[in-house]
Amino acid sequence: MDQPVSYFGAGPAKLPQPVLQQAAAAILNFEENGLSILELPHRSRAFKNILEEANALVNELCGLDGAFEILWLQGGGRLQFAMLPANFLGHDQQAGYIDSGHWAAEALDTARLYGAALVSSSAKAQHYRQLPAWPQNLPASLRYLHVTPNNTIYGTQWAALPDTGSLPLVADLSSDIFSRPRHYAGLSMFYAVAQKNLGPAGVTLVAIRKDFLQRPARALPPYLDYCAHVAAGGILNTLPVFPIYVCLLYLRWLKARGLEGQLLENSQKAALVYEAIDNSRYFRCPIAPADRSLMNVVFRGEEPETERLFAAYCRAEGLQGLEGHRSAGGFRASLYNGVSLQEAQKLALAIQNFKPETI
Ligand SMILES: *Cc1c(COP(=O)(O)O)cnc(C)c1O
Repeated sequence: MDQPVSYFGAGPAKLPQPVLQQAAAAILNFEENGLSILELPHRSRAFKNILEEANALVNELCGLDGAFEILWLQGGGRLQFAMLPANFLGHDQQAGYIDSGHWAAEALDTARLYGAALVSSSAKAQHYRQLPAWPQNLPASLRYLHVTPNNTIYGTQWAALPDTGSLPLVADLSSDIFSRPRHYAGLSMFYAVAQKNLGPAGVTLVAIRKDFLQRPARALPPYLDYCAHVAAGGILNTLPVFPIYVCLLYLRWLKARGLEGQLLENSQKAALVYEAIDNSRYFRCPIAPADRSLMNVVFRGEEPETERLFAAYCRAEGLQGLEGHRSAGGFRASLYNGVSLQEAQKLALAIQNFKPETI
């Protein structure tokens, strides 16, 4: 590549260079055994080793202490929006949903197909520019409370989640898993699509507390039944071997850095970019400062013309993937784990140096 590109896409997202290099080598020859990783059977010993090491790393990085079943499923975030209520929410039962953004609302709408999904708290009236208040006095009858700690499209994030006591908390960690230490073991279940902070598209990490797992609330085809996956040792169907392998490489890379180290770097990256926006005459970040995400930095130009010129400026500077979500417009810089400090510095400098009159 003659021109280095810095990539801030929201997902599929930037992967760390060493992960890409090892993944590329494994496509031609996996562990010197002459097979490509793309040809590796999902029931081979070699693949079981990949799965076991990946699960052990998830367990270790999240401090799960063996209390969770770990699954690698297909169908992305959307399928988890359905599998969660299909398994845990009977048609005559209630679950609470915190409506903090686009994906949170989609999870809620999907749950309504299965049972009574209640809006426990919402920031919709504030156009999701801040986090909703954490719900209080929830009915004890709720099967679970669903939360989306990082709102990928709007750029808000809960740094830590309150303790919900005996009410099971389920989190969609798709856009901030492994970006910081969290009390993961305090959740009853969490899931995360790989394509943001963990690997390529095609696989979703699902972790369910063993004491929360139960027979599904209704008759389900085996693929939709968490218990069926657990009973099959996590290999119910032909798993996406290559995406899981790339996740393993990413997990090894994360382990070497540690989640504390990752949080430090993610905080530095976000601070640089927010500071450049806040100090610029040409841009503004619409998100309440206390609720700003370290992962997705959303910003707008003061004028539509400024946005057009900045987009052209970024193209010329090799900064890519900055378009806001098609529903939100403006810009969004995703600073996931795979985006380096140097790339964030480059973006902050571009925002700082940009002058529409000189373009
Ligand atoms: C990206 C994203 C999703 C959607 O994932 P798909 O794999 O496209 O279904 C769900 N939840 C959150 C928080 C996301 O960021």
